Amino acid sequence: MVERVYLARPRGFCAGVVMAIRTVEKEAQRSEGDLVVYHQIVHNETVVRRLEEEHGVHFVEDLDEIAELKKRHRLSGKIVFSAHGVPPEVRRRAAELGLLQIDATCPLVTKVHTEAKKYASLGYTILLIGDSADHQEVKGTLGEAPDHTILVAVHTQVGKDPRLADPRTVEVPDPEKVVVLTQTTLSVDDTDATIEILKRRFPKLVTPSRSDLCYATKNRQDAVRRLARHVDLFLVLSSRHSSNGMRLYELASALTRAVRIDGPEDLEEAWFEGVQNVGITSAASTPEDLVQGTVAWLRARWPGLKLVEEGEWEQIRFREPQPKTPEEVLAEL
Ligand code: SF4
Repeated sequence: MVERVYLARPRGFCAGVVMAIRTVEKEAQRSEGDLVVYHQIVHNETVVRRLEEEHGVHFVEDLDEIAELKKRHRLSGKIVFSAHGVPPEVRRRAAELGLLQIDATCPLVTKVHTEAKKYASLGYTILLIGDSADHQEVKGTLGEAPDHTILVAVHTQVGKDPRLADPRTVEVPDPEKVVVLTQTTLSVDDTDATIEILKRRFPKLVTPSRSDLCYATKNRQDAVRRLARHVDLFLVLSSRHSSNGMRLYELASALTRAVRIDGPEDLEEAWFEGVQNVGITSAASTPEDLVQGTVAWLRARWPGLKLVEEGEWEQIRFREPQPKTPEEVLAEL
């Protein structure tokens, strides 16, 4: 019988996700014609489906899809780039297509892009730690300095994606000029350990003054760590494609029994046999109503359960981006 439900705090939407979703909603409302968004605005199926259904937004993975969309829909002539960021080449192509661009890249991802450009211009080799060469954020950062960057796996994930080098064996042209950058949403512990391995290999390794891992990633992992010792089963609400969400799931699984779910519709009563204390957390892109729906599902079965929620909410806000004309974008590139 479930007696207690511990809600992790913080959980759910981070400032970058709030900014990105608001940007799409506002642009969709003020645009004449349908809005196009490059890549899932954030990695959550529910968010994407709601924007499609309620705001008529079209998501594309390739700018070439826009020509086909134009045949069937009246488009706004604008494109929004997702919170994960895009390579400069995509911005150039979008400008050549004459699209007005609204860049909803999280500022904490933009910071890593800026570092990549800076160190490439100084002749450094960039070791970029990521979880997959296919992740949109990795593609975006890599695209800033493709000739200077080597993708590196976190030490626990070596071999999962053969395009990522092993930190224990990666070679660089000049060990005196090497810097490490990271995807923003990795495991804090695994990233620290991977950077230590690289430091032993390359004693002159430059590490950014502040970690590239974002505050939301760190805070959500800390909250899971705090709660895990109290719970018999951790429910992690996250889409399969959310990097920060999957890292939460891996962390919770390492500390106690854990299940990843997209939403309350995935819950199964059999999981709760012998379980008294349930933990709940959610990825930075998971809407809070899915968490509340999960609590309601539990309450419907165990009406006497006690809800425990401790910890601080974050107070960070990011400003929404302004549209840029193709000429403005080309001048920046
Ligand atoms: S998870 Fe971190 S990097 Fe990603 S959008 Fe949120 S704050 Fe930005």
